Amino acid sequence: MPNNKNKPFLSSEFYGILKEKEVYKYTLQNETIKVEITNLGCSIMAIYTKGSDQLEKNIVAGFKDIKDYENNPYYFGCVIGRYANRIAYGKFTLNDKTIQLSVNDGINHLHGGFEGFNKKVWKLISAQADKDEVVVEFEYLSCNGEEGYPGNLLVKIKYIINAKDQLVIEYNADTDSATPISLTNHSYFNLSGFESPNIYEHLLSVYAENYTEKNLNNTPTGNILPVIDTPLNFNKPKKIGKDLNQFPKDKGFDHNFILKRDFSSEIIQASELRDLASGRTLKIYTDQPGIQLYTANFWDGTIEGSHGVYQQHGAVALETQAFPDSPNHPAFPDTILKPGQHYFSTTIYEFGIG
Ligand code: BGC
Repeated sequence: MPNNKNKPFLSSEFYGILKEKEVYKYTLQNETIKVEITNLGCSIMAIYTKGSDQLEKNIVAGFKDIKDYENNPYYFGCVIGRYANRIAYGKFTLNDKTIQLSVNDGINHLHGGFEGFNKKVWKLISAQADKDEVVVEFEYLSCNGEEGYPGNLLVKIKYIINAKDQLVIEYNADTDSATPISLTNHSYFNLSGFESPNIYEHLLSVYAENYTEKNLNNTPTGNILPVIDTPLNFNKPKKIGKDLNQFPKDKGFDHNFILKRDFSSEIIQASELRDLASGRTLKIYTDQPGIQLYTANFWDGTIEGSHGVYQQHGAVALETQAFPDSPNHPAFPDTILKPGQHYFSTTIYEFGIG
């Protein structure tokens, strides 16, 4: 396909065969954004946007070689499921039955288990580019019992780049038996394009009055606490580096914020990230109740990716999600999808210069 920069276009590159399935890299591009996605883990490999100097840079952590996505220990860019974040002891009760999920993070279940959706080879089900939008859609059938989850769950994820300089992710799922579900994308952003090796100078806003308190096991206590007068108050733009060392056990921020909205499922602006040096901005909108702020606390300088070696606090993940461990907290928004119901969720990343 011709690389006509003025017209949205889509191209694909065959990588090889993994688990007997074909793996590709897809490039979605319009005048202002270029996004590379692989069907391995349904992962975002790169997002190129322009800074105030008009130079394009890749603002997400990733690997050049698709093969590295087979390992991907820090979940660069991938889709997380069936349930994002932790479920305490990997255990919960559903319809009077105890469900035991795989336990892959100390005593907890994290990000869907040992082989979550991030490790699966997804099937491309549609791809198109027209004058306003470029769209790719992937599908994965998560079978009953996978990582301990009940029910066959058919998941479809659509990535759209549009004329509003947005990358829209639409998540769809249907099940044949009741199951918890919370899907997210685990992209890590550094709006300088990693010219700055950390995100201490990035200005962050998170539009939340409250957060879910955690216990020492990194799972919710059930208490909802106000962010005011805590290092977690990002209602006005604040440098990420300012209070980052207030959480020595976490080695940075690793918290779920409760988004302020008038009615459930309303798409609202959750967050804004700004890098003054490059001028790049990112606004995140979502219908999800929560957003996890995670500042790459455990990157240890051993992972080499698209930008060279990634350092601790080299980027920030802003994961739109249901609250962690919701199946064990009846007071949290319900995350159980039942047969006949349809799961639909939207998250929008809007790129700008300002
Ligand atoms: C979680 C962290 C976890 C990390 C793994 C984040 O989404 O909030 O607790 O260590 O993922 O990369």
